[in-house]
Amino acid sequence: MNSNEEALYSIFEKAKRYDDLAFLSKNKLINCSFCGKDESNLKKLIAGPDVFICNECIEICVEILEEDANKGKS
Ligand SMILES: [Zn+2]
Repeated sequence: MNSNEEALYSIFEKAKRYDDLAFLSKNKLINCSFCGKDESNLKKLIAGPDVFICNECIEICVEILEEDANKGKS
């Protein structure tokens, strides 16, 4: 795991603490703050303070970080 990924995962670890709280309010539909999809169309939506990110956007983030890491190596 490179330093970019470690930084990303530490953010997700913090976000998990808010995740449980967010899912207590099941009445309203939560949207991903990045792509705008609602939780009914997503496998997983992770909550942060005032923001949400879905599993699809996380995958895109990881790809971007990996691309940057690979650029640095070559
Ligand atoms: Zn998203």
